[in-house]
Parts: sequence; structure tokens; C-alpha cells
Amino acid sequence: MATEKKIPYKIYLEESEMPQNWYNMRADMKNKPAPMLNPGTHEPMTAEELSGVFCADLVAQELDNDTAFVPIPEEIRSFYKMYRPSPLVRAYCLEEKLQTPAKIYYKFEGNNTSGSHKLNSAIAQAYYAKKQGLKGVTTETGAGQWGTALSMACAYLGLDCKVYMVKVSYEQKPFRREVMRTYGASVTPSPSMETEIGRKILEAHPGTGGSLGCAISEAVEKAVTSEGYRYVLGSVLNQVLLHQSVIGLEAKAAADKYGIKFDTIIGCAGGGSNLGGLIAPFMGQKLRGEADYEIIAVEPASCPSFTRGKFAYDFCDTGMVCPLAKMYTLGSDFIPAPNHAGGLRYHGMSPVLSQLYDDGLMSAVSVKQTDVFQAAEAFARCEGILPAPESSHAIRVAIDEALKCKETGEEKTILFGLTGTGYFDMVAYEKFHDGLMEDYIPTDEELAIGLSKLPQV
Ligand SMILES: *Cc1c(COP(=O)(O)O)cnc(C)c1O
Repeated sequence: MATEKKIPYKIYLEESEMPQNWYNMRADMKNKPAPMLNPGTHEPMTAEELSGVFCADLVAQELDNDTAFVPIPEEIRSFYKMYRPSPLVRAYCLEEKLQTPAKIYYKFEGNNTSGSHKLNSAIAQAYYAKKQGLKGVTTETGAGQWGTALSMACAYLGLDCKVYMVKVSYEQKPFRREVMRTYGASVTPSPSMETEIGRKILEAHPGTGGSLGCAISEAVEKAVTSEGYRYVLGSVLNQVLLHQSVIGLEAKAAADKYGIKFDTIIGCAGGGSNLGGLIAPFMGQKLRGEADYEIIAVEPASCPSFTRGKFAYDFCDTGMVCPLAKMYTLGSDFIPAPNHAGGLRYHGMSPVLSQLYDDGLMSAVSVKQTDVFQAAEAFARCEGILPAPESSHAIRVAIDEALKCKETGEEKTILFGLTGTGYFDMVAYEKFHDGLMEDYIPTDEELAIGLSKLPQV
């Protein structure tokens, strides 16, 4: 079948065609994302204040709303070459199975040990920490992909890596933990007795399984109280979207080689980093009035920041030690029901994507867990890859869009982000196969509780 078609199953770039620069969407945004605020004074965070928490170069990237292209340092580009370029795949088998006139493409980021796109930013953040002469970095991890990616990057550069892992994941995903330890990271279940905030949380909620917001507070506290350490974060931040733009830049370069023009671009959205990276060059064209695309963020119905949250300043963590960010949020107190897409359980959303969404430049839909796993299974059976539950949110909506085309006869070209593989998520697949998976959808009353506690700014 493949030989009959002009476009190959997989489009790879040559090494020489790989991006030399990251692209910063903020440079082309008319309405810039709102600045982070100091949680005490409510004044915009200065570079000096931020540099107590983050590395200097990363602070500069975080605050830079004007530079469109940021050169990717040579050392990072050589690291990228170990697992990039990632393929742009034409989902011929899925198209055939769906009997759709739509053309479906996906950009596959699961081809590295972390099993996700997170390594793209982990290596960049570790590189700048090393360049500054730091001893190490601290971070949190929920599902474990970010912690794994960061420990790989730190091992490569000889940096110490301290990971606070949400306690339920620590207990439920022992293999993730061992991968991190293989790469030399120290992994602590959060909340822990190691930090003041951890001890406080444990006193108030003995036996708690922890949350991402709580692990963030512990990691930040550890970084600011340890000489030679800074804190790093795997999503949400402007700098992370910048690093992840490598996904979209590669996808666009590969598509341009074959004259492919996408109509619809779809990605799952937890904190917004893969989606922000995938859409970056396309949104740039849209912002400059050069081209138009339909862009769809997909989130779980159990944690619907875009579709049911508020666009407001909020805390990024439970301990309220981090700066305030203006974003679509469910409130930092919101604890989502135990959805299996661990990477999509954060209460907030990237301020860049939040602004773009508020300006009507992209749309969002929420999907139910069982529908997501149905799509995951259909995809695995025809395309071969066992997708991560997070990624499967994008698969669900790509399939839905392709089925709409079947009705209308429209020959849309669809691109979606396949962010990773699901080998560590087999308990979730097991629940689905055994018919034990539930669809949790919070009621308006439940959401109102988290939203009522937003800080007054
Ligand atoms: C972390 C993760 C996500 C969600 O995070 P974003 O910052 O929204 O991209 C999606 N897919 C996978 C595989 C992940 O590990």
C-alpha cells in the first residue's frame, strides 16, 4: 500500500534539516501573556526575584516576550540528535480503518526512555543549570515522565537530581521510580518529612496520597534552601513552551518538504507544553496573518481547566510559595478525581495558551476517560504504537474529526501530537479492559469550591 502513495508512512528530517532555533510565540502575540506576580506584594516578579528559584538563563527566557528565535545551543542540539528528529507519521492504517476521506498525521514523541516529549525541555533546563555552575536541580513529578526525563538529562550532564514524586504514583508506579534511580536521581515520596511544607501538609492531612501542587511546593522549598540548587518545572512555564517548539518546527519542516498543509491541529493539554510546542510555528503564521489553522486543545472531563475553569491569577502550587500566574484554572485547591492520565491532572494551564484561548485563537474540548481508552485501543491495534493515556486524548478528538469528515466528505488534513507511550500505564488499560474504568465529571458545585478560593488580585 505504501508504495502506491506519494507520501511515505514516516517523514524524517535529515540531521542538517533539524531546527537551529527555538521559536517564541510570544514575540508575535498582540496580547502578551500576563506577567507572574509576587504572591506577597502582587507586583510583577523581577528577574532578580525569579533567579532565587530558577537558573539565570531560564529566567531571561521566561521573561522575554520579544525575541522570536532563540538559538538552540550546540550541546543541546547534539543531545537532541540521540532521539530526534522524531517522525511525522501518516496514519494510513487508521485512515483505512475509519474509512475517512481525511488525511491524518501524527508527530510521535515517545521514542526515548522517558517515553514522552518532556526530554526536549529537560535537557535544555539541565544544560542552563550546568552552565551556571550549579550542583543540581529539584523538581516534582506526578505520573513520572517528567522526573524520568530530567534524571536522564542530569545523568548526561553530571548534575544532581532530586525528585519529589506524588506519593500515590510513587507507590503505584514503582518501575517509573526505578528508571529514575537508574539514571542516578534521588526520589522522595511527597508529601515528605524533609521539608517544612511537607511536614505541615502531613500534619493537616495524615495519610494523604499527595498532589502535584504539593510536590511542587516541596521541590521549590528544597531548591531555595539548598546551596547550589535551583528548581525546574516540566510544563506550564513560558520557557518550557519555547523548548518544546522543536516539536512543531520539525513537524512543519517535514510537512513543507512534501507540500503538506494542515487544516486542523490537535493536542492534549495538561499544563500546555506539548500543545504549545506543536502549534508554535503554525500559531506564529496565524498571528502574523500568513495562514489559518483550526487548533484544538483536548483535556480530560475530570480536570477541565480550559472548558470549565476561570481565566484569573492563581497559585501554581498548594503551599502557595510560587508566583501567581494568570491562567485558566480550577483553583490550586482543586484535586481532580483519580483519572488515569496523570500528566493531565494539573489545576492550571500555560499562561501563553490561556491568553491565546481567551483571544479566540484556539478552541478546547473535554473528553471522557472511557472514550479516550477506546480511541487508544483502536489506535494501538492499527498503528502499532501503544499510546500514553495523555496522548490518547488527542487521538480521541483526531478520530472524531476524521469521522465528521466521513459524514461531510471533507478531505481535511489533520495533525495531532502523539506525546508518548503507555507502557507504565497498564493498570489503567487493565481497568479499561475489565470494564472497571469510571468517568468522573466534577459537578458545578464541586468546581465552585476550588474557584471560590482564587486569590484576590
Ligand atoms: C506530561 C505529559 C503530557 C501533558 O503535559 P503538557 O505539558 O500539557 O504537554 C502529555 N503527554 C505525555 C506523554 C506526558 O508525559
